[in-house]
Amino acid sequence: MGRFGETLGTLGRLFRGQAPGQLIIQLTDRCNARCPQCGMRVLNRFQRTRLDNVYVKRLLDAGARQGMRMVSFTGGEPLLFRDDLIALITYAGKVGFRYIRTGTNGFLFRNHQDPCFNDRVKSLAEALAATPLRNLWFSVDSAEPAIHDAMRGFPGVLSGIAKALPIFHAHGIYPSANVGLNRNLTQETAQLQPLTGDAAPEERFSLAFGNGLERLYRLLLDMGFTLTSACYPMSVDADASGLQAVYGATAAERLVCFSEREKVLLYQALAETAKKFRSRLRIVTPLSSLHSLINQHSGREEQGYPCRGGIDYLFVDSVHGQTYPCGYRGAEPMGRLWELDPQILWANRQTACRRCDWECFRDPSELFGPLLRGLSQPMRLVGEHRRDPQFLRLWAEDCRYARACNLYDGRRAPDYTRLQSFAPADHNKTPAVAQVLVNRAGNMAERAE
Ligand code: SF4
Ligand code: SF4
Repeated sequence: MGRFGETLGTLGRLFRGQAPGQLIIQLTDRCNARCPQCGMRVLNRFQRTRLDNVYVKRLLDAGARQGMRMVSFTGGEPLLFRDDLIALITYAGKVGFRYIRTGTNGFLFRNHQDPCFNDRVKSLAEALAATPLRNLWFSVDSAEPAIHDAMRGFPGVLSGIAKALPIFHAHGIYPSANVGLNRNLTQETAQLQPLTGDAAPEERFSLAFGNGLERLYRLLLDMGFTLTSACYPMSVDADASGLQAVYGATAAERLVCFSEREKVLLYQALAETAKKFRSRLRIVTPLSSLHSLINQHSGREEQGYPCRGGIDYLFVDSVHGQTYPCGYRGAEPMGRLWELDPQILWANRQTACRRCDWECFRDPSELFGPLLRGLSQPMRLVGEHRRDPQFLRLWAEDCRYARACNLYDGRRAPDYTRLQSFAPADHNKTPAVAQVLVNRAGNMAERAE
């Protein structure tokens, strides 16, 4: 199908009240890292699984037939099966997926002092560059390299990632730092006491996370990242939410458990910090989505758009190859992807789920929400946004920003000239900053060793 046909297909979906479809395939739950916040860490003992290539190709065929164009290959650690992963990315492109993502915990970038390090990274970058992969993410969990490396269980890995980035850039791949928000952002945030409802601890919390996020974005810039996204804290309280995770990237550890009030303060700090860095780093996190999450955790849930998990976005687990509305509604299996029951999809449409903050589904749901509402119920859209005009302003700004970022295309270098219009007022007064960044983009390819 040509681009024109695809555009028509997307418009058709939108007019039918459907967002562009997204499929997340958990290729494996095997992982070699030790992240304390994750149920799949190598130290946890359980029967590990992976989906075989024939099965995954069948999933891709089915997803493409259903009009899906976005697919994410996740784990565990997908690069444990490098050749299979590359074959599947290639296949996904062949059957029509356009937005193909995968990521890594960075284990291949350990031991960056090895004489063969550059060759090792070049070989991976070359292999991935030959596929239609659009976005490659590297997980980053702390603004302090020592904390990050210790959590991951890979000493020196952040230095290895910094050394690897120019090699990827030289091959036309601009990896994204996938930041897992947790209490170990810095030593200061790790030592915060639980909030008691008093103003002083709340101020300390906001300040500590604001400073921590600022340090994190500076670290990412220093390392050479040009793109970043944020993973909102994922802790599933099964009793309160009725959720049952099939995706093991969750744990009940305090590290990723935040109270409602803490989430409000955390997302406010993230929004404020992201605004400061949007002209220097392509930050995928939409401010409109954070606004809705802040509303939700402040008790104004109905002001955001419900999640499209189980409607347009689906998750397939590595244990059974089963389809679920997402990785957290494990009690609602939907069968094989190629035999989905339209009645279940219809029932999911009625659920208006907002039971977790999984950014993979929540962020695009917020971004497509106003479009879908505007096409199907324009008067309701007007009414909703009279009540919360700030949301629509942020949403329009997010759309303009996404365009300036070429829709976060990880195969294109950042256009810092376009991004400059998002600089905070004090940055606009220093054109030298813009020039440095424009020069940096021009020199990126030359930095590869
Ligand atoms: S968070 Fe990712 S890298 Fe860490 S243990 Fe879990 S799957 Fe592995
Ligand atoms: S909000 Fe979305 S991702 Fe979270 S439980 Fe509901 S459907 Fe799943």
